[in-house]
Amino acid sequence: MSRLRPAPPSSIALMDIYERMLSAYGPQHWWPGESSLEVIIGAILTQSASWTNVEKAIDNLKNNGALSIQGLQRLPVSDLARLVYPSGYYNAKAAKIKAFVDWLYRNHDADLDNLFSLDTAELRQQLLGVYGIGEETADSIVLYAASKPMFVIDAYTRRIIDRLGTTWGVQTPATGTPGSLPGADHGQETSIGHDYGHTNSRVHGCPLDTTSYSNDQRRNSLPGWTPESRRKGLGTYASYQALFMSNLPHDAAMFNEYHALLVRHGKDVCKKKPICIGCCLATACASAGVG
Ligand code: SF4
Repeated sequence: MSRLRPAPPSSIALMDIYERMLSAYGPQHWWPGESSLEVIIGAILTQSASWTNVEKAIDNLKNNGALSIQGLQRLPVSDLARLVYPSGYYNAKAAKIKAFVDWLYRNHDADLDNLFSLDTAELRQQLLGVYGIGEETADSIVLYAASKPMFVIDAYTRRIIDRLGTTWGVQTPATGTPGSLPGADHGQETSIGHDYGHTNSRVHGCPLDTTSYSNDQRRNSLPGWTPESRRKGLGTYASYQALFMSNLPHDAAMFNEYHALLVRHGKDVCKKKPICIGCCLATACASAGVG
């Protein structure tokens, strides 16, 4: 009787995924923005918008001397809406930017350093209380504007994780919460990466190699995975975030790069119709070959 190998610890698998993408694409130099305020405004404007259009809106703000806390506060909301028009939903986005700036004046003396002096959890919590700032936007601000370790989840991340099959590590708040750091020792993870390299090729004996069993076997070996849950993409923002926060060292620089790499991979390779041939994650992916 054939015996399935247990799924690898998700901490090791997640580091392997990171190393493979970093090797394939190189550093992504995120977030594109010249200041913390620009990152915050970009995080709001990029809701349901392409980055190209966000850049046009930010250029409008810069060219009109409005990209400062004071400039945004002085600007009537109708004028602000006109400037951010290229990013779409311009009236709603102008209202959100105004709400953030007004909140910053009222609660943090219009001072981003004051805001960023909060600890990570408190900063996230306060941001979530501001009109128009949801989890992805709050976490983008925490990570990319405040440089604090909070993993950002977006549609690309969900799609890639679902396809990889690493949802075996998705934890509910009852079994794992952001902030805890169980799992394998990070030094052990990186030494595995260095010893075996980060290429697509199968390396005999590498503990990260999962090519010795079939896609179905890999899928079936993932506790909690069902075809139905996979098809529906079930899983809350918090559960995807806990997968990363509970299994990786809380390193803001690595979280920064990891999210940027997932976006790159989701845009260029693991697209809606994935390009599996040549994919740097193929040998670790339960869905390899679907595209
Ligand atoms: S092998 Fe295919 S499905 Fe898997 S991550 Fe790569 S592109 Fe996506």
